[in-house]
Amino acid sequence: MMTKTTLFLFALLLGQFSTAQTMNKELTQEEQRVILHKGTEMPFSGKYYNFTGKGTYVCKQCNAPLYRSSDKFDSGCGWPSFDDEIPGAVRRQPDADSRRTEIVCAKCGGHLGHVFIGEGFTPKNTRHCVNSISLRFIPAQTETAIFAGGCFWGVEYMMGKEPGVISVESGYTGGTTQNPTYEEVCTHTTGHAEAVRIVFDPTVVSYETLAKLFFEIHDPTQKNRQGPDVGNQYRSEIFYTTPEQQKIAERLIAQLKVKGYDVVTAVTPATTFWKAEEYHQDYYDRKGTLPYCHKYTKRF
Ligand SMILES: [Zn+2]
Repeated sequence: MMTKTTLFLFALLLGQFSTAQTMNKELTQEEQRVILHKGTEMPFSGKYYNFTGKGTYVCKQCNAPLYRSSDKFDSGCGWPSFDDEIPGAVRRQPDADSRRTEIVCAKCGGHLGHVFIGEGFTPKNTRHCVNSISLRFIPAQTETAIFAGGCFWGVEYMMGKEPGVISVESGYTGGTTQNPTYEEVCTHTTGHAEAVRIVFDPTVVSYETLAKLFFEIHDPTQKNRQGPDVGNQYRSEIFYTTPEQQKIAERLIAQLKVKGYDVVTAVTPATTFWKAEEYHQDYYDRKGTLPYCHKYTKRF
């Protein structure tokens, strides 16, 4: 038989579940300070005040689409500025200071910033002054790059730091077997290389920039090894996903050869990329250590 207390707990649990379904991941302390407690991030400190990628800005807390990049402009104020919102996405309410107008996500009520009218920045005469930390950017288009340059832990770590890179996964590709495991790849019978698959926003970072970085974080003159890691799974290879990527890769290799580097990097069409076991993903970030296997060397 259910007591009042168990009924109450049950209702509480239900409430939590329905909240969890609409809410994003747990907010960090700084996200909570701004989004829940209406704080303000330092000007010129946010991720998006000086950012020009093409796409949509969604609510950090609930993922509701809020602003389009086509409505973003540079007001010089140090926070992302928009002269319009996605219709119905943003609610205006008097600020606690009773002078300004606060803006919140219409769906979840998360604090975004303030809106100012009549400043004359753009013909719409409106400035949504939004904290970067209240937003998450989703690019309109993405491109995929696949590189093999020795131990994938290090390549993943260093590529992941590049602005415009949305995600990097460690995995296996270029071989002949299906669903390879790390142990199988280590036996040198699968033909697979350790590789990373990068999804990036080409309006922020070009394939050429990423490919140059690839040649500068591993040694493209070492055949079937990278430093202490020896074996054909550690070979240097670019798996292109478009004909343009192939051209860029071959041009960069030609440039390096002119500079005297005896580049052994193969350039081949991408085939199935098999994502590696979870314990290989985000390896150095989880360990909290720097890569032993890769470092940056300027070559271009
Ligand atoms: Zn929201």
